Parts: sequence; C-alpha cells; structure tokens
Amino acid sequence: MSSKERTEKSLFLKISSRPPPLNLLRNRYTFFSTCIDFYSHINLVKILEKTEKIWMNGKFVDWDDAKVHVLTHALHYGTGIFEGIRCYNTDKGPAIFRVKEHFQRFLNSAKLCLMDLEYSVDEFIGIARELLKINKLNEGYIRPCAFYGYGEIGIKALSNPIDIAMACWPWGTYLGEEALEKGVRCKISSWVRIDSRMAPPLAKAAANYLNSFLAKREAIDCGYDEAILLNSNGYVSEGPGANIFIVKGNRVMTPPPSAGALRGITADAIMQIIQDLGFELVSQQNIIREDLFLADEAFLTGTAVEVTPIREIDKRVIGSGSGRGPITEKIQKIFFDTVKGNIDKYYDWLTFV
Ligand code: PMP
Repeated sequence: MSSKERTEKSLFLKISSRPPPLNLLRNRYTFFSTCIDFYSHINLVKILEKTEKIWMNGKFVDWDDAKVHVLTHALHYGTGIFEGIRCYNTDKGPAIFRVKEHFQRFLNSAKLCLMDLEYSVDEFIGIARELLKINKLNEGYIRPCAFYGYGEIGIKALSNPIDIAMACWPWGTYLGEEALEKGVRCKISSWVRIDSRMAPPLAKAAANYLNSFLAKREAIDCGYDEAILLNSNGYVSEGPGANIFIVKGNRVMTPPPSAGALRGITADAIMQIIQDLGFELVSQQNIIREDLFLADEAFLTGTAVEVTPIREIDKRVIGSGSGRGPITEKIQKIFFDTVKGNIDKYYDWLTFV
C-alpha cells in the first residue's frame, strides 16, 4: 500500500515523537504532505476511542477521571501487569473470547510480579461484563491492569497500594484490514526476547513491554510492519505482541514454551484448530531463523492481531508470495467463525455478556 493510500484511511492517525520542522506550518498543505511522507513508513495506529466509564479500584468512574499520580511506582519502574481481551458481537449478542483464560493469566502475572489482587477470576469476569454493559459496547477490547501505585518511591515498594483498573473501547483490526488478507512484512529484531533469568516472560508485565516496544519501533523505523524476536539462544520466540506459526508442507510449527514467548491464548486456540483440521502440529521443537525464511506460509496470532499472515521476513518472500497461504486462510476463517459464535465445537470459548 502506498503512503497516499494509507492516508486515505482517515480513521487512522499517525503517531510519532518526531514532528516535521515547525517552519513547515506556514503552509498547511506542505505540512500535511510532509507529515505523510515523514511518517509513511510508520504503522498507522487507530486512536483510542473513549467510552463512558472505567472501573477503578472497585468503582466505575468517568473515563477522564481514571487518573494516577505522576509518582506512581509503576510509571517509574514498570511494576504493572495487564491483559488484552476481545469481545465480539455475535448473532446471540456480545461475547468475550476465552475470558476465563485471560483472567487466569492476569492472576498468574500478578503472582509472578508479587501482587496480591484479592479478586477471583469470576469476580473479574463479572466486572468485565458490567463494564461492557455500562459502556453499551458490543464489540471491542477490554484492558484490565494492576500496578504498584503512589507511595514509596524506592524500588522495593513494600508499602505501596496495588491499584486495579479495567477499561474497554471499540477496536478494529490491529494491523489493518488489508493485513488480514495480504499479510505483513516482518523484520527479525536486533533486540533479543527477554528470558526468565531477566524477567518473567510468562507474565504480561508492563516492564516486559519495553523489550516489545523497542523491537516494534525498530521494525517500523526500518520500513517493516512488525518485528520477530529471537531468544538468547538464537531460536525464534515471538512477535512484540503476538505468537508466531509457520507452515511447511502439512506441518504447522510454533516455538516450544521454552523459547520464552508469552503463552498466547489465541495461539492455544489455534493449536486446537490446527489439530482438529488434521494438520500435524509441531510445538516442541525449536525454530531457527532459516525455518522462517524457508516456510511455505507464516502467520501471527494474538488478541490484537487475531490471525495475521506474514508475507515477507527480512526481504525474503514467504512461500508463493501471494500473502495469505491456503492453510493460513483456512485457520483464519475458522478463527473468525469461532469468535463470531458460528462453530459449535468451540462455543465454550465464548462467554456471553
Ligand atoms: N506475545 C506477547 C508478547 C503478547 O503481548 C501477546 C498479546 N497478549 C501475545 C503473545 C498473544 O497472546 P494472546 O493470544 O493471549 O493475546
């Protein structure tokens, strides 16, 4: 897609910390076209769409009032955890995809990061449902988070409160509609995925996402859409916010748990779908960089990216170069039918609001 075509998608805003020089403000056209050229290599990001209420520490507050102090511990040291959950509108009303697994992972992240949240999975599900109803949101994203709050500013945070919040908002495709069909271009990152000697990769911890952020920004700055991180042993781990799968013949491979990726809830669903489709699933074998280059097909999975094909990695065209390969397309179709409540076998993955 050319930069011009991208800008025509007016729903999207471009975000960067480096604006064009101020003297260009003299001429609005030059200013905007310079912005367009300047940012054309940067992924387009859909701006956050406000809803009415956010749940915060036991209460529903107005969106604009869900605030914290600038000396909040997590803001300085990354001592927070979060989840990303999607709700889909189905024929039978809004349904949250694998909500139990998401809140169980939230509690696991809390444990790994020494936080006692004092809420159960069922209580969190209740809050999520109420939040969606209050905000009249049938389809979108749910973002729970918990973090060491305002108090002690030393690292140990022995006496700081743990703040907990949950927000939701409308959210479409993460890498753009076109990416679902044509695929994305990936760069193998110069950043190495964190491992469990550094920080817990299985926790969806805020601090871990500095690693993701750097990889993602490097990829975008180099003109790609997405990053792929290797681990400290040089094996393929995952994307900055997504798990990775490759297809070779009838085998579908994804890195083993020891490769240091976050255990994706979407990936777990996809592994089930792959086996139910009769493909051979290989998930206990390390993947090396060359496997990526020589794959017939490759795709990313995650709550945000859903099932997004990869069409190129480090300038090597994947498979036939058509973007989305036939096996990826099959899996993707089943995934979207599942979240829309159209597949009985996977109906249990949905929790109706
Ligand atoms: N890896 C990372 C680092 C992520 O942030 C995510 C998104 N949560 C994933 C993988 C995919 O996980 P899930 O399918 O549970 O969203």
